[in-house]
Amino acid sequence: MQKPMPSKDSHHTTNQAAGTTRRLWPYIKRHKGLASVSLVSVILFAATGRAIPLVFGFAIDKGITQKNLNLVYYAAGAYLILELSRSGFAFCKDYFIARLGNRVLFQVREDLIRHVQNLPARFFDQTPVGRIITRVTNDVVSLQDFFHDGVNSMFVMSLELLTILVALAYISLPLTLIIILTLPPALWMSLKISRQLRADFREAKSKLSTINAFTAESLNGMKILQLYNRAPHTREKFAGYSEEYRALQMKTVRGFAKLWPILSYFDALTVALSLFFGAIFFTRSQITIGELSAFLLLAQSFFKPVRAILERFNQFQNSLASADRIFALIDEPEEILEGQRFATTPLKGEVEFKNLTFKYDKESRPVLKNINLKIAPGESVALVGRTGSGKSTMVSLLQKLYNFEDGDILVDGQSLSKLSTQELRQRIGVVRQDHFLIRGTIRDNISLYNEEISNDAIFEAALKANCDDLIQRSGHGLDTLVEERGANLSVGEKQLISFARVLAYNPDILILDEATANIDSHSEQLIQEATIEATKGRTSIIIAHRLSTILHCDRIVVLHDGEIVEMGSHQKLMETKGKYWEYQNQ
Ligand code: ATP
Ligand code: MG
Repeated sequence: MQKPMPSKDSHHTTNQAAGTTRRLWPYIKRHKGLASVSLVSVILFAATGRAIPLVFGFAIDKGITQKNLNLVYYAAGAYLILELSRSGFAFCKDYFIARLGNRVLFQVREDLIRHVQNLPARFFDQTPVGRIITRVTNDVVSLQDFFHDGVNSMFVMSLELLTILVALAYISLPLTLIIILTLPPALWMSLKISRQLRADFREAKSKLSTINAFTAESLNGMKILQLYNRAPHTREKFAGYSEEYRALQMKTVRGFAKLWPILSYFDALTVALSLFFGAIFFTRSQITIGELSAFLLLAQSFFKPVRAILERFNQFQNSLASADRIFALIDEPEEILEGQRFATTPLKGEVEFKNLTFKYDKESRPVLKNINLKIAPGESVALVGRTGSGKSTMVSLLQKLYNFEDGDILVDGQSLSKLSTQELRQRIGVVRQDHFLIRGTIRDNISLYNEEISNDAIFEAALKANCDDLIQRSGHGLDTLVEERGANLSVGEKQLISFARVLAYNPDILILDEATANIDSHSEQLIQEATIEATKGRTSIIIAHRLSTILHCDRIVVLHDGEIVEMGSHQKLMETKGKYWEYQNQ
């Protein structure tokens, strides 16, 4: 691995820090009061810190050496007050900066979640959910570190260092120049160590994310792993990763352990230099004894901020990288939900696919080819075809989940491109192949927390969707709990709840993507009835696998390889002996 040059490296960090600060600025600006109070506390903290040695010097020169005890009493009093107020300011700066950081992070997290909700379906196809979760949780926490390490350590400590230098130079410029000479070699050596440390840190971090991914995968697949008795194997693999991580961790600990003694050495060197040259200056009457004492006190605290800055530097860079990733996510273009408003009256429900050709990616083959299909208001159409023939894609496009360029889809005679996406989706009800159930009660799953849907309406929808067995069985009615992803429900039951949801929302157009799973004939009967109830008087597009569902529809459309190859009634299609006939006879 090629190592970057130090100057370039720190330049990069500075740029990055400036970039992050610029992005955070609008958030900070919303809390002007809090930000100002923090800044004032930091300044007062530094000022009182520098005043203390100066008071000592003054007390020695003007009090002790001149035997003016009165002045010494005052100086002692002033010292006490200064120490107390410095502690007070230390508390204030920590407290206010943390408070500011929390407020800002809260808003960044809110913005991030709101933003992610508005990202197009395309984005979720391409981005693993785990990565998005990392952004919203871990990376936001790292941004907190930016406040802690960046503002509190880097900024506060830089200010400390600067004020110490100013105070030193105020006492004796030549002596200050001498001790500044220790800085370059100290920085050079510690940068060398910290560059190695950073590489180790990065490796440890990537090892940790491997462990996380591995854990998530084996937990998700736990049922299968247990069934096949693969758990011991998984454990071994985990132990391997864990050991590698431990070794890397130890490497970073060793690096840190090296950093301390080196810095302590330079710390001692500055004090020794001050003492030696200070004494020479004193004999030449270039400095008073009080000034020299103050200088020594200041010189002793000179390396503290340097040490803090170097120590936090790695962390600081890490948090900058996280901030970068957060803002990259925030910069992902959102889906455009605006558009022509709908009339408040219900849609008639006429749907027309016109010369529609569609590819998921520019380079890939078309998934839909020149689709032409006009569905009359209230008509129910069964979409039939092999797996991968493009059925789900067709209905995804109707919901504007993906953008298409070739051809058009019209709803009530209006092109989709002109219609508001948000309102369009409100008017289309979907029962998907993968039933989306949330952790909560059956009631929550039907209403999705929409308060406009009354309890009665929920109950009625549940009854119409044949959920009565399900809600009576537990004795808790609609308050029966549903586990995450509906783990405590059968496939058929999940489907019934999805039906109830559609009925409660009463959409103008219904899309039903039937699950291919086999279910028993009783459940099939229940689902069949629920389907009839849901499609009543509504334009419906039903991706059907079961003959019972297909037979119930007004028209059957056969898709093959992204093309509509046949259309008509069951009877007619069976007589033609084409693709449909082939499917039914498989
Ligand atoms: P099934 O009956 O199995 O549900 P389907 O007819 O619904 O099949 P689609 O989901 O529409 O099939 O998929 C059609 C084609 O598009 C398939 O070849 C699939 O690989 C591809 N495809 C589907 N979704 C995506 C996506 N999000 N990104 C890229 N390609 C996709
Ligand atoms: Mg499908």
